[in-house]
Amino acid sequence: MRLSLLLRRPFDFGQREVAHWFPGHMAKGLKQMRAKLSKVDCIVEVHDARIPLSGRNPLFKEYLGIRPHLLVLNKVDLADLSHQKRIVTQLEQQGVGKVIYTDCIREENIKQIVPAITERIGSNPLFNRSENPDISIMVTGIPNVGKSSLINALRRTHLRKGKASKVGGEPGITRSVLCRIQVSENPLIYLLDTPGVLSPRIESVETGMKLALCGTILDHLVGEDIIADYLLYTLNQHQQHSYVEQYELKGPCSNIETLLKKIALKLGKTQRVKALTGVGNVNITVPNYSAAAYEFIRSFRKGDMGRVTLD
Ligand code: GDP
Repeated sequence: MRLSLLLRRPFDFGQREVAHWFPGHMAKGLKQMRAKLSKVDCIVEVHDARIPLSGRNPLFKEYLGIRPHLLVLNKVDLADLSHQKRIVTQLEQQGVGKVIYTDCIREENIKQIVPAITERIGSNPLFNRSENPDISIMVTGIPNVGKSSLINALRRTHLRKGKASKVGGEPGITRSVLCRIQVSENPLIYLLDTPGVLSPRIESVETGMKLALCGTILDHLVGEDIIADYLLYTLNQHQQHSYVEQYELKGPCSNIETLLKKIALKLGKTQRVKALTGVGNVNITVPNYSAAAYEFIRSFRKGDMGRVTLD
């Protein structure tokens, strides 16, 4: 079959069950946050700019929508911004009042956040806090989107202080409730507790796969092989073919096994296995597909495959 036809095929998600992709402790997040809500002036929700429309927690809006809200789409360095206008319009239609795109590693647009918070609070008559000038915010979002990185970036920008929040490479690392953290001096802004970790909304297996690609779900719960397959499918759909050069292929390919074999051989990710043949046991060298899949996914998450917006 011609490649163009292959690339158009719908992705086969099989009979996957997404219900178990999130650890139970995340359900507690919303409860903890609601308990603190009366002391919060503004909620800063962080989400991944590569999936601006997928995976946010809908309960969040239901329970927390009564507070001024700011949506920070982080990891903008990894997202394809040619979609920005469409995305912001769609978010506005969903009732999101203010969106800021950030890169917390390079500290891009971090300075826009405090003015946006004061503007959100100021525009809401319920929160005219003239006798009590300090502002309490709560940073929330699904795992691994950069909540801790944002808090640290805010502190570095406004207070010239270092880390207050542990940055983790694995989803769901920030769990416990900490104390108030100052994030700005003028205006005086405190962050209430640790980032509230919410479980994302997975309305379909495809949404789950997008969330997995962005590293918000522990890889082994979904399976590296299927994430890698979906990644290849996605890159082809977006005509993002930089993997061809990176892994020295002859052209775009739609077969994940072919690609993983190439990656494994190129990067020396092979393993010796025993094979039973007609003349007895022999050791043969085979590609390590799991290691190659992990490498492919990791490379995408670092941005080596170019910028991609998955929604
Ligand atoms: P949290 O679980 O939401 O608190 O997320 P973390 O702050 O622990 O960040 C998760 C991972 O994303 C870490 O490896 C960070 O270094 C990385 N990260 C955070 N912000 C950015 C960003 O703007 N761009 C990129 N490329 N990576 C980021």
